[in-house]
Amino acid sequence: MRVMLSVAIATCLFAAATGGHAAERETRIPDKAIATAAQLRETALKSDLGYRITESLTTEVGPRLAGSEADARAVAWAVAKFKELGFDKVWTEPVTFPKWERRSESAHVVGANAQPLHLTALGGSPAGTVEGEIVRFADLAALEAAPAGSLAGKIAFIDYRMERARDGAGYGPGSRVRSRGPSAAIRAGAIGYLMRSAGTDSHRNPHTGITRFDEGLTPIPSAALAVPDADQLGRLLALGKPVKVKLALDCGWDGTYTSQNVIGEIRGSSKPNEVVVIGGHLDSWDLGTGAIDDGAGVGLTMAAGKLIGDLKQHPARTIRVVAFANEEQGLHGGKAYAEAHMKDVLKHQIGAESDFGAGRIYAYSSSAPAYAKGADAQIAQALAPLGIEYTPGQGGPGPDIGPSAEKGMAWARLAQDGTDYFDLHHTPDDTFDKIDPQALAQNVAAYAVFAYLAASADGDFGSRPATPPAATK
Ligand SMILES: [Zn+2]
Repeated sequence: MRVMLSVAIATCLFAAATGGHAAERETRIPDKAIATAAQLRETALKSDLGYRITESLTTEVGPRLAGSEADARAVAWAVAKFKELGFDKVWTEPVTFPKWERRSESAHVVGANAQPLHLTALGGSPAGTVEGEIVRFADLAALEAAPAGSLAGKIAFIDYRMERARDGAGYGPGSRVRSRGPSAAIRAGAIGYLMRSAGTDSHRNPHTGITRFDEGLTPIPSAALAVPDADQLGRLLALGKPVKVKLALDCGWDGTYTSQNVIGEIRGSSKPNEVVVIGGHLDSWDLGTGAIDDGAGVGLTMAAGKLIGDLKQHPARTIRVVAFANEEQGLHGGKAYAEAHMKDVLKHQIGAESDFGAGRIYAYSSSAPAYAKGADAQIAQALAPLGIEYTPGQGGPGPDIGPSAEKGMAWARLAQDGTDYFDLHHTPDDTFDKIDPQALAQNVAAYAVFAYLAASADGDFGSRPATPPAATK
């Protein structure tokens, strides 16, 4: 009863917040579209197209650090691939951001226990060579509590171990050690920053990722140790004598760069000006070849679009596939898309980004309001044969969809099994061989079914210009 009551209250609040849109007709998906989606699902499961597109990107372009020479090749690859796949319209939109480069990185324990350590600079770190005593902290809160000046001349080391979870819940606290640790270290007076990688593997591959320094602080060299190297440093410290490390990073910011969001469309049959947006991000970190992050997301959504395009009758609305620029260093492509397109938020039926690897999708949910819940459940029913559970009310939009969702675009979440994702994420081991072709085909099938049905619905999924947060809470 309590559940039903709260749903009723939520519905009333929604009606108040949207100024009467709840009086609209219920959104439904025609039976004919449901039947076509079932065929599309079976076709996609038998197709290796998503796998082949991902192979092409990760092999022919390889690593694609935003702003690098390979960034431009990735953009050219995506334009050519959309055209080769027969998309009806292909174009690019500029995305400008500061450019960061990695040139070299090394670290050694010095003194009686001298030995090398495997690490990698955090994106955004400045260059520098520093040598100092290591001070270990169990977690971010411990370093944030260190008094100002207490680490003068020393190197801060956060030894926080990230938790493994299917939905990636451990990455929140793990990535905060990366994003906020360096600034906390500077406030305490440290000359350098080390962290145990935000990863769940036990290999000697450090995990990179972006960090940022709070305004007014002078950045210090900041790096992530491979998990076994963090263990090693912990054992050396446990011997009870001071441990000194020499850290040498050559990297840093170098002007600005303009990349492109690359967009391909399968034209809708009766409402071509309304779009369902799916996509992934085209950039990657530089250590691996960006296969699970996020070549797979680009490959599987391009394939889903192509399979919908192959249907005799296109859905009513246009399928828009976006290969977003520079997600890794701050959602630059997603923000540029929102800036360029959310004036037309009502033309956006719904959006979903795949950016959590290449594992099987196990759950579906969306931001559909009460009047679209029926259609949402119809999509969930069409996804169920793929082993996907309907989990309304859970999760949120993919990273590059976030800025558009904030401006009012409806979103869907096709949650991938990320149990092993953080074994590989942002490491040299993020390579094509890690992708299971059957799991990727299941992803293509799910995105194709979702996008086709959302594009075929009679009615919308609740995209509206965002009202100020105070009015909707
Ligand atoms: Zn990613």
